[in-house]
Amino acid sequence: MTDQDKPGKAQLAEMFRDFIDAEYVIVDEETLRPYECDGLSMYCEMPLIVVLPETVQQVQRVLRICHQYSIPVVARGAGTGLCAGAMPHAEGVVLSLAKFNRILSIDPLARSARVQPGVRNLAITEAAAEHGLYYGPDPSSQIACTIGGNVAENSGGVHCLKYGLTVHNILSVEMLSVEGEKLIIGSQGLDSCGMDLLALITGSEGLLGIVTEVTVKLLPQPEKAQVVMAAFDSVQQAGDAVGGIISRGIIPAGLEMMDTHAIRAAEDFAKAGYPRDAQALLLCEVDGTAEEVQEHITQVEGLFATFGATSVRTSQSEAERALLWKGRKSAFPAVGRISPDYYCMDGTIPRGQLAHVLTEMQRMSDEYQLRVANVFHAGDGNLHPLILFDANVPGEFEKTEEFGARILELCVEVGGCITGEHGVGIEKIRQMPIQFNEQELVQFNAIKDAFDPAGTLNPGKGVPTLRHCQEHRALETKPAPASMTTKGAA
Ligand SMILES: Cc1cc2nc3c(=O)[nH]c(=O)nc-3n(C[C@H](O)[C@H](O)[C@H](O)COP(=O)(O)OP(=O)(O)OC[C@H]3O[C@@H](n4cnc5c(N)ncnc54)[C@H](O)[C@@H]3O)c2cc1C
Repeated sequence: MTDQDKPGKAQLAEMFRDFIDAEYVIVDEETLRPYECDGLSMYCEMPLIVVLPETVQQVQRVLRICHQYSIPVVARGAGTGLCAGAMPHAEGVVLSLAKFNRILSIDPLARSARVQPGVRNLAITEAAAEHGLYYGPDPSSQIACTIGGNVAENSGGVHCLKYGLTVHNILSVEMLSVEGEKLIIGSQGLDSCGMDLLALITGSEGLLGIVTEVTVKLLPQPEKAQVVMAAFDSVQQAGDAVGGIISRGIIPAGLEMMDTHAIRAAEDFAKAGYPRDAQALLLCEVDGTAEEVQEHITQVEGLFATFGATSVRTSQSEAERALLWKGRKSAFPAVGRISPDYYCMDGTIPRGQLAHVLTEMQRMSDEYQLRVANVFHAGDGNLHPLILFDANVPGEFEKTEEFGARILELCVEVGGCITGEHGVGIEKIRQMPIQFNEQELVQFNAIKDAFDPAGTLNPGKGVPTLRHCQEHRALETKPAPASMTTKGAA
């Protein structure tokens, strides 16, 4: 098909208005503007058209038209992603799933729920609460982000150390292929036969199909949960304490670390009672039966003292537990108050490398003259360095990008990977040839081709084209790491 055969913007909009209410086919610049980026506002592009269908049949018709005319399609949930995964294509359609916001059923016996992709993560837990159940993965953005976005990014959160990532907490998805054909992947039972396509689709960043329904697993609410907060004089001591807890066989429900910049910003914002003079803070949550919690809390308190904690505080009520978490959960916006801009990175490293990587990052921070605040999932080695910068200072954005890239390279160097939970999107596509060798990238491209030969689903994201890789200096100079770590495996 030549470009002359393609419908123009007005003609395409007319085709969509044939089956979608006119107000949900957006073409004017002012209304398109909020869709130009996701949570990573450093990368923006205005889309050609945004559509907000509300039935699966409408989504099928959108996909069929786009397929027929080779028009790019970018799915969008809440747009909270942090890798520019939902950034539009200038000649493409943004397919918003915002109107797919219904919880279709909850089955307390099977401990599962069928939900549409635009349902907010937290809404699942709220709806399941009357059955004494909840949904495990809890991204800090859970008040806004959607389950469709969670599946596409294989999202994690504080509780994923014990309860797993999205991939471990879903049973099946209904997905539309690029041609608009309906596929059911996984099953309503605990086992599915054949190749594990559900794992392939989870984390596929909207590159393989459009998710139109998700069946999630639900967990019983624990009888009791308590959190221990410990302050340390160095990140080295806090890093060692993380290793100490895990090696004792305790799997906390959450084990989070903050450094001094993050502690102060979060405390000023949330007034959670964090010690402002600490160099590092650990929050360790333990859940289970009252007896289990009692036993583990005693062990954790003792271990923190052994590893040199300067203060240890254990929540004595649900209100106190919520307050201690409030600081951590609002740390990203809190850091936004101490810098005009910040760039949130996401890399995963083996837990044993925590102290080394944090020290190395501090050295780079001095070299680039850019502050870094660290707030992250220490238990699973998933780092979130926030590089503080000012986009109005000429050259500072580029310097920040370079610093961020070096952090990701450091993660790969120590045996980790370039994303723990935020995805590759556009942001980390240049680091893919550092993480994977050419043969491995050929396999990624083959999978993309199998689902989407014309490459119209979320083009330019997630999987670099081989030409792009060959241009990348790293491909010629660096071998693939000995043990490959893929997204979500940490
Ligand atoms: C303050 C803050 C805190 C965060 N904390 C965490 C955290 O703790 N853990 C974590 O994992 N992430 C976190 N994130 C990142 C983000 O919230 C997650 O990646 C989330 O899953 C994105 O969901 P969304 O609905 O906003 O998706 P979007 O940003 O809209 O889209 C994300 C990707 O999913 C694709 N997509 C969306 N819906 C569909 C669908 N139905 N079918 C196919 N593809 C689809 C899009 O094309 C895009 O590639 C945080 C973000 C912010 C802003």
